[in-house]
Amino acid sequence: MQYKSTRNSQISISSAEAIKKGLSEEGGLFVPESIPQMKETEIAELTGMNYRARAKVILSKFLTDFTEDELSECIMKAYTKEKFGTDNIAPVYKLNDAEYILELWHGPTCAFKDMALQILPHLLTTSMKKTGEEDEVVILVATSGDTGKAALEGFRDVSGTRIVVFYPDNGVSEIQKLQMVTQEGNNVGVAAVKGNFDDAQSGVKKIFTDEAYKELLGNNRFKLSSANSINWGRLVPQIVYYFSAYADLLSANEIKNGEKINVVVPTGNFGNILAAYYAYKMGLPVNRFICASNKNNVLTDFINTGVYDKNRSFHTTISPSMDILISSNLERFLYILCGENDEETAGWMKELAEKGRYEVSESVKAEITRLFAGGCADDDETMAAIKKCSEEYGYVMDTHTAVAKAVYDEYRQKTGDTTKTVIASTASPFKFNQSVLIALSGHGAVAGKDEFSLLAELSEESGMEIPRSLAELKNKAKLFNTVCEKEEMIQVVSDFLQIG
Ligand SMILES: *Cc1c(COP(=O)(O)O)cnc(C)c1O
Repeated sequence: MQYKSTRNSQISISSAEAIKKGLSEEGGLFVPESIPQMKETEIAELTGMNYRARAKVILSKFLTDFTEDELSECIMKAYTKEKFGTDNIAPVYKLNDAEYILELWHGPTCAFKDMALQILPHLLTTSMKKTGEEDEVVILVATSGDTGKAALEGFRDVSGTRIVVFYPDNGVSEIQKLQMVTQEGNNVGVAAVKGNFDDAQSGVKKIFTDEAYKELLGNNRFKLSSANSINWGRLVPQIVYYFSAYADLLSANEIKNGEKINVVVPTGNFGNILAAYYAYKMGLPVNRFICASNKNNVLTDFINTGVYDKNRSFHTTISPSMDILISSNLERFLYILCGENDEETAGWMKELAEKGRYEVSESVKAEITRLFAGGCADDDETMAAIKKCSEEYGYVMDTHTAVAKAVYDEYRQKTGDTTKTVIASTASPFKFNQSVLIALSGHGAVAGKDEFSLLAELSEESGMEIPRSLAELKNKAKLFNTVCEKEEMIQVVSDFLQIG
């Protein structure tokens, strides 16, 4: 299976090359030249397999240039009981007769980014080897929270890689900061940048486009790369868990094979929901996708009107990983919907870059509304959903999952659609403990308490165990204290690599 670009259908490269490159030269994203199929019988066969075996079935259909052994090795290193605390890597929790929660946060950082970032480093290093690349990969990440930690955990001690993460010194939560400055591993670096997320991100972009620096790195046998959510190696592992959830529902006799389900996804960059859409294109029986946004509801408007318009105010919400105005993975979705027309896709992306706005054609609009529903929930509605779900079912959700639940409840009420529904749960409630506790017990419950008292309090309220990786933070040594100016970031990288 070869890969082409959403802005140039003539390109034809292997999956290893697509994963190594990340982004195509003309700015497009890599997509498979055709979408492999899963027959009903193949889906039924997944029921007898564990998550690793299911991953192998799906990944081998896309990464056809990887040998069976290479794929097995990547999967075995990523999805272990040791890292996920359970062999059931992505468990499905039955909330009631129609709603099932797909828990994607049992990985080492307690958020769903682990599902992709635990395996990406292995796919990437294998891709480097397969394409004859001998330099060591240096991953640079600017993070507003979840991605940085998930990337650090994913790349830690992976031979042939180094990783440096920059976070804004006053732009991440206390627990996120603790997670990063206590990071262990012999190939990791972490630094705070004075400023906000944009400063950190533009600093990283500047390093990536510095040709002289690239040469210096090359002379020292280093090659820069990123762990962006647009890399195909991050998207493809996410397709697995939608099939896995369906297989679990089949095993538990909750559905019959071939029965259509709804899928609800709390969305930011459109990566997670796009993976669900790929699963559908492969043959997963889906009735409707419900795309849930917080107050940054650019996608809700897009789904309802066909107009994407990022010219609007940015809101900081209690579901920060969804505070996004440009959903970069939407480009792959549009490319499929317009019949893989690279010119049309490139045109929309050009309009987005120049005017911050584009409108898709009537036929694309029709296909979106046939399959997708979009909705949004503000912070108050999100809080209310956490409380209501806890009271009704004794199940406590995080603030991102709660956006999905609130949007789904409204959808169900409006449409009367009783199709069995899988709701993607993207973070452990402990990761956003403060907002969750306020939702459950009011502001009094959190006043004056430190992170670790909050974790204990939430454990008591929810009856859930504190995830080990968060509880352990209390006793971990702080290993990084670098704080730099934006202009000094390049020096931080050089110092870390001991060059220049
Ligand atoms: C990244 C993230 C999301 C958004 O996922 P996308 O793939 O960007 O749509 C939702 N919830 C949490 C907790 C996240 O970390």
